[in-house]
Amino acid sequence: MNHDRSRALYDRALSVLAGGVNSSVRATKPYPFFIQRGDGAHVIDADGNRYLDYVMGYGPLLYGHSVPEEIQAAIQSHASAGPMYGAPTEIEVEHAEFVSRHVPSVEMIRFVNSGTEATVSAVRLARGYTGRDKIVIMQGGYHGAQESTLVEGSAEHPKPSTAGIPESFAQHTIPVPFNDTEAIEQVFSEHGSDIAGVLVEPILANMGIVMPVDGYHETLRSLCDDHGSLLIFDEVITGFRVGGLGCAQSRFGVTPDVTTFGKIIGGGFPVGAIGGRSEIIEQFTPAGPVFQSGTFSGHPVTMAAGLSYLEYAAENNVYSHINDLGSQLRTGLSEIVADQAPTYTVVGTDSMFKTIFTRDGAPDPDGHCSGGCQQNSDCSRFAHCPKTGADVSRAETDRWERIFWHEMKDRGIFLTANQFESQFVSYAHTKADIEQTLEAYKEAL
Ligand SMILES: *Cc1c(COP(=O)(O)O)cnc(C)c1O
Repeated sequence: MNHDRSRALYDRALSVLAGGVNSSVRATKPYPFFIQRGDGAHVIDADGNRYLDYVMGYGPLLYGHSVPEEIQAAIQSHASAGPMYGAPTEIEVEHAEFVSRHVPSVEMIRFVNSGTEATVSAVRLARGYTGRDKIVIMQGGYHGAQESTLVEGSAEHPKPSTAGIPESFAQHTIPVPFNDTEAIEQVFSEHGSDIAGVLVEPILANMGIVMPVDGYHETLRSLCDDHGSLLIFDEVITGFRVGGLGCAQSRFGVTPDVTTFGKIIGGGFPVGAIGGRSEIIEQFTPAGPVFQSGTFSGHPVTMAAGLSYLEYAAENNVYSHINDLGSQLRTGLSEIVADQAPTYTVVGTDSMFKTIFTRDGAPDPDGHCSGGCQQNSDCSRFAHCPKTGADVSRAETDRWERIFWHEMKDRGIFLTANQFESQFVSYAHTKADIEQTLEAYKEAL
């Protein structure tokens, strides 16, 4: 595979873009390939190499790179008609109506421009609504680039996870291990009356893919109820991907007070949103006292792309198609892993998947859950499958990033840049693509 043009482009980029990129995860080593265009489930790089794409923009692209005609038409007509005004448009109302019709927790919604902006606004909203300062987050959870959640350490010793955040900010954040009922009960018994909200991804999806153990979200729900704190589900990645149009909350049967969205609801354009019960969402200005505003918020092109994306999914068998492919892929991967690397764990659900290079597994290689680890307590591997972000970080992350990723790339398969980021099947993928992918895994693992 020739990468001369990508190498030259990265050389230029290093002079004018920090690290040569606009989002850190894109800087694959030794240099990233630059993408020229997409074609269905494939991308073509600057040197003309073609890859089967499972990055899918890190989550937004439910249909791959060639969208159905009606989606394309909706995008084009809104792009050529404005494209934006600084005044309300009908398409924002229609999109809000669609989301509130399908997602259990949502009566009202505020659209913003990124997942980060959604979680920033949700944290401010929870603090404004409750009059409290403390936010509980999960170790290894990800909520975008924001001050209140770029915090690591433990409940007793939270500290900023990056330069640029005052220690005093981190003091208002309480990181706990995901799936640990005792830890969260302890935190509520000590700080319950100071906790504005618990912010949690229903499935950890930026730290491997870690499913909740049975009853975990129910515990969070009842602790929040008992202490007057808000339960906030960050569905930026799971929203309209896991659990279909009802999102992960409908799949788990737990209704949060507030939900943050992003990725898919913008149909491939920049987006975020905060939804929830009316009495909470109406705390946002101009209806209430919590300031929230944005030049591009509810952008007509984004709204048209996002709404037509979701309407297409409502009218066609999109989720059953991509979830079947996801299941075929995870089942095939489980067989390969059982055969070639029995300590590794296949994870994921619906159209999400990843292989975690876990270091120790159950002695019985037949114990692999065929559809990907679901934290099933009857499974012989239950004790060995990752339950927290820390469990995933203890895997062979260097082998994944430095060797395996490149082996797959050389076989024409484009995976996410490191062990931690989720991978996605799209509506454009086919059964033959899955077969080809399994062959590549077989050789590369
Ligand atoms: C991607 C992601 C974000 C951040 O969204 P951006 O649009 O990148 O700012 C927040 N939370 C979760 C769960 C995400 O997956």
